[in-house]
Amino acid sequence: MPTYDYDLFVIGAGSGGVRAARLTGALGKRVAVAEQVQVGGTCVLRGCVPKKLFVYSSEYSQNFRDAKNFGWSVDWARFDWPTLRDNVQNEVNRLSGLYLQNLEKSHVEIIDDRAIVQDAHTVRLTREGRSVTAEKILIAVGGHTYRPSETKGYEYGITSTDAFLLEELPASILIAGGGYIALEFATVFAGLGVETTIVYRGERVLRGFDHDIRAHVQNDMLRQGVKIICGSVIEEIAPLANGKKLAKLSNSMQVEADQVMWAVGRTPNTNSLGLGNAGVELTERGAVKVDAYSRTNVPSIFAVGDVTDRVNLTPVAIREAVAFVNTEYRGTPTATDHADIASAVFCSPPVGAVGLTEEEARAQGHKLKIFRTGFRSMKHVFAGNEQRSLMKLVVDAKTDVVLGVHIAGPDAPEMIQLAAVTVKARLTKAQWDSTCAVHPTAAEELVLMGEPVSHDNEAPA
Ligand code: NDP
Repeated sequence: MPTYDYDLFVIGAGSGGVRAARLTGALGKRVAVAEQVQVGGTCVLRGCVPKKLFVYSSEYSQNFRDAKNFGWSVDWARFDWPTLRDNVQNEVNRLSGLYLQNLEKSHVEIIDDRAIVQDAHTVRLTREGRSVTAEKILIAVGGHTYRPSETKGYEYGITSTDAFLLEELPASILIAGGGYIALEFATVFAGLGVETTIVYRGERVLRGFDHDIRAHVQNDMLRQGVKIICGSVIEEIAPLANGKKLAKLSNSMQVEADQVMWAVGRTPNTNSLGLGNAGVELTERGAVKVDAYSRTNVPSIFAVGDVTDRVNLTPVAIREAVAFVNTEYRGTPTATDHADIASAVFCSPPVGAVGLTEEEARAQGHKLKIFRTGFRSMKHVFAGNEQRSLMKLVVDAKTDVVLGVHIAGPDAPEMIQLAAVTVKARLTKAQWDSTCAVHPTAAEELVLMGEPVSHDNEAPA
């Protein structure tokens, strides 16, 4: 039996890497994790956590307006960007410290270095200039924001990572993309009073979400004053003498803004990681190719999280890491179940979705009953806030199983977590109907949708 320096060497201390390292270390194995930046990864340092704190901050402007009819006078409200920016950085550093402590408690060695794969059992620590060996190597290096280098002047565009650290709040911003990050940051900046424009190549934002939700979100963001330019991309960014940027769009429009931000997707961090040295196969998009057990084609090398480009969400990376530990160290082979994963977009109105969209269900051949309701919440009516909520259930006409739940409106991300339990459990619409409402809430509308807005003939066409 060859002897190795470690039982497990993890490259990348983000959500997936930390969980795998921690659990394996707690089992008494010799574990090291290498991190080139800071423990915490995208979610904690430059993703979910700071983003959500920024979203909370941006919501105050509307909350202050809503407060008036509730008897509050908040005319003194004033926003200070450095306070938010620095407090958020302090918070993510605090959380990073907790991650570090948890690793130490599990006896994981933390190596502050960029590690690359040298061969199937060897990792090179590039700053220290030494190599170490491990029986197993786990790749958990995540991804980074894609910037289209073929676009002239692309380097003048910032990314979401830069946005958290801006010296000052811009007066105007142009955001490229129509997905999660574009809409969330447009919501943040617009809420903070920044003149915000989205430029998106498709016809309607949030491709992949249910068409009713996409239309609802796009219309409401327009209503709130976010400009959305569809069917167009940025062809060039040029710096102007006044410090602003000029973006030339493919539809011949020109947009001048203090900042231009790329939110056109993320790319797995496999570049220069040495995976070729060990013969690890990649997908066409440069992600590490893995099976349901997160195994690569090299028996001693595994990968979890965004670097595998499966479902790029923190809780998924964590589940993949736990499944890896169960399989490799606890004697319980566990495949990660990627079906019916709920997700939320923290834009305004926020979105929660789980299961099949109407389009996906039809494409799979389901005959459907569609239930849909739109309303203004009691709080919004009272406040004079025009934002409406939309809820939609996609139900199989034959079996009555609820295949998909789609919500856009206040608290949608909170509601969708529980709706996901019912979709995962394949509960029927009748079971939803038999559940008594909680009053007065917006969520009660979910169990009060009596008649379908459309009902397919169940007989095959
Ligand atoms: P998304 O895939 O959500 O969106 C990318 C957007 O960029 C799409 O609108 C896409 O258009 C557009 N796009 C892609 N390539 C180009 C191009 N070359 N030129 C112009 N537009 C382009 O990626 P994000 O970067 O927003 O987020 C990355 C991932 O991170 C998400 O998919 C999600 O998994 C995760 N995430 C999750 C969050 C959450 O859970 N709340 C928050 C933030 C990120 P098209 O639609 O036509 O493809």
